[in-house]
Amino acid sequence: MPHPTLNIGNVEISVLHDGEVSGPFQRFFPDVPLEAWAPYLKRYPDAYTGSDSLRVHFECYLIRSQGRTLLIDTGLGNASSNPGTVTNVGGGVDGVLLAELEAAGFQAGDIDIVFLTHLHPDHVGWNVTRDGGNESPTFPNARYVAHEADWAAFDTPRDSEIFGYSWWAETVAPLRRMGVLDLVSGETKLTGELTAIPTPGHTPGSMSLVVDSGGERAFIMGDVFHGPAQVTETGWVFHYDTDPDQAGQTRQRMLDRAESENATIAICHHSGFGRVIRESGRRYWQAV
Ligand SMILES: [Zn+2]
Ligand SMILES: [Zn+2]
Repeated sequence: MPHPTLNIGNVEISVLHDGEVSGPFQRFFPDVPLEAWAPYLKRYPDAYTGSDSLRVHFECYLIRSQGRTLLIDTGLGNASSNPGTVTNVGGGVDGVLLAELEAAGFQAGDIDIVFLTHLHPDHVGWNVTRDGGNESPTFPNARYVAHEADWAAFDTPRDSEIFGYSWWAETVAPLRRMGVLDLVSGETKLTGELTAIPTPGHTPGSMSLVVDSGGERAFIMGDVFHGPAQVTETGWVFHYDTDPDQAGQTRQRMLDRAESENATIAICHHSGFGRVIRESGRRYWQAV
């Protein structure tokens, strides 16, 4: 599969597609009436399946900056690395991130930093490789970076209470035991061109990555948005947002920034890259 690639100044960003599922609007946005989706079904046909379901991508990103190689999020994983999530979210289908990485010309050992936008189960799936009783970091030379507020929010047994199955013990807890996890808070520079910033609401520790190089800018925003419709409908509440009001404010703030800073944007569950445009005073996603 080709990897959509974006250059921001000297930084190269490639999409690595771990997998894809479809799920009904009502499951993800139970408060939004079905007919409200009509204009977006028309505007973004690739974002939907049929007339009532979201097409949910699980995208990760490979970023090269100042000699460093970063992986943003680690997707769904497979049946041994993240069994509960592959069964309950992925429909029993393993993700393909490692094959995508290889097709892009990289090995797991090339990754210097794994930046986790947040610690939900569909973003941490390939963190750890399990071989019989042995666990090891899938990216053996990487530091894994996540926000301390998500560690506090989802540590076992809270993970099972939230989605009805466990993922923490398989994917996140081992990182700390192995000594490869860096928990951060506030703004954190990952390279001279890449800064992690807090964008809370979807989860308490959600972060976005600001890419700033050669006078150009991009925001890799994890789950701040769930599909292009929310660029217009910032008040639509995603069912799994921890704090819906804060999530809406964060969406608004990041759109204000994307507009004023002329930034390209990416969101994990929709393919490719976009920009914010205005039509008749309303904001929309436009694919680039
Ligand atoms: Zn999430
Ligand atoms: Zn997600």
